[in-house]
Amino acid sequence: MMSFDEAKQRILSRAPLMPAELVGLHQANNRVLAAPLLARRDQPPHAVSAMDGYAVRAEDCHGQRTRLTVTQTIPAGAVPQGPIGPGQAARIFTGAPLPAGADAILIQELVQRLQDEQIESDAELTAGRYVRAAGQDFAKGQVGIDANQRLGARHIGLAAAMNYPWLKVRRRPIVALISTGDELVHPGEPLGAGQIISANCSALQALVERHGGQALVFGATPDHKDALIASLEAARSADIIVTSGGASVGDHDLVGGLLRDHGLRVDFWKIAMRPGKPLIFGDYQERLFLGLPGNPVSALLGGLMFLVPMLARMLGQGDPTEAWQPRELAGSLPANDERLEFLRARLLPHGRVEAFKRQDSAMAKMLAQADGLIRRPAQAPAWPNGQNVDYLPLSDLI
Ligand code: AMP
Ligand code: MG
Repeated sequence: MMSFDEAKQRILSRAPLMPAELVGLHQANNRVLAAPLLARRDQPPHAVSAMDGYAVRAEDCHGQRTRLTVTQTIPAGAVPQGPIGPGQAARIFTGAPLPAGADAILIQELVQRLQDEQIESDAELTAGRYVRAAGQDFAKGQVGIDANQRLGARHIGLAAAMNYPWLKVRRRPIVALISTGDELVHPGEPLGAGQIISANCSALQALVERHGGQALVFGATPDHKDALIASLEAARSADIIVTSGGASVGDHDLVGGLLRDHGLRVDFWKIAMRPGKPLIFGDYQERLFLGLPGNPVSALLGGLMFLVPMLARMLGQGDPTEAWQPRELAGSLPANDERLEFLRARLLPHGRVEAFKRQDSAMAKMLAQADGLIRRPAQAPAWPNGQNVDYLPLSDLI
């Protein structure tokens, strides 16, 4: 059986960087910027006031009581009517441009207003006080956002301020999701005897979308050759085809066996990992193909451990499943066999982590309730209470 690390390496080596596409600014949230974004203007475009008050010459405000004449009013969005000279001031508001001659703002709290446009103050100012210099935030041509940044609200805001109505982002990898099994119906559909609800496509769709892909959900396909081939043909426009179920070697497990005769090139099938041993990777008609096991925990953890790193690589991102943390184990664990294991675990209040007693790969509820995973290497010896272990929090991942 192939090791987990080698399987992942092989999968990642096949993941292409996605090409760029243009999207409107308002479609760019959560997308990945494909090229550095250079400011298209200076911000602020000219020196502006940071406060409400009076634009003055700093040398006129020297700490002794002085009287100044207010010659104009400049609200934000207005243009100064002219310069100010010695002994003059301009009434000014936050964001408004300074008139020529002014180099500081006398805030209104430090001013007494007299009759006839006269003000008095005993404030002492140095040049630049409460002035935002032109280009202080960004200057035309400066890099505002680096390539490969995943865009959130603050980046969208900056891109808007830099005057971009559209952005060049990486195209989202399209992931076709096909679940297989005669026993499956979708949530809400009539449920016959012996049938269960398909959970995997819904879970994998959420996973794909969370990690920057676009899911094409093909629903559940019966365990029949023609049906499966029809679904795969329909899925051929995707970048990655993902199946769940039918990956082991039971009589009804079609995916691996059958598809080999119909254009599936298998790179590997079965890896030394628990849950999720029967995992197929290869290509189907020049599309990347990932065949996940049917058990809900195996399907989703297989998706997390292989599909998520693949999507990250295709989007020029770091691998979010490598964020393992050192933690102390609560309770002990017996020696492990030849399969690397991802144990569903709870984070205890004092920061130690405890593996759930039951690790059945059919128990979706336990996965939903887990705080994280403990990684148990192949052939690990028995671990005592307090052992240092690698722990991966799940809340941001699945
Ligand atoms: P298989 O890999 O097809 O042998 O399926 C293994 C187990 O997972 C069986 O108990 C299936 O009923 C179950 N299973 C397969 N696909 C799904 C699915 N989409 N949702 C929930 N359970 C599934
Ligand atoms: Mg099946």
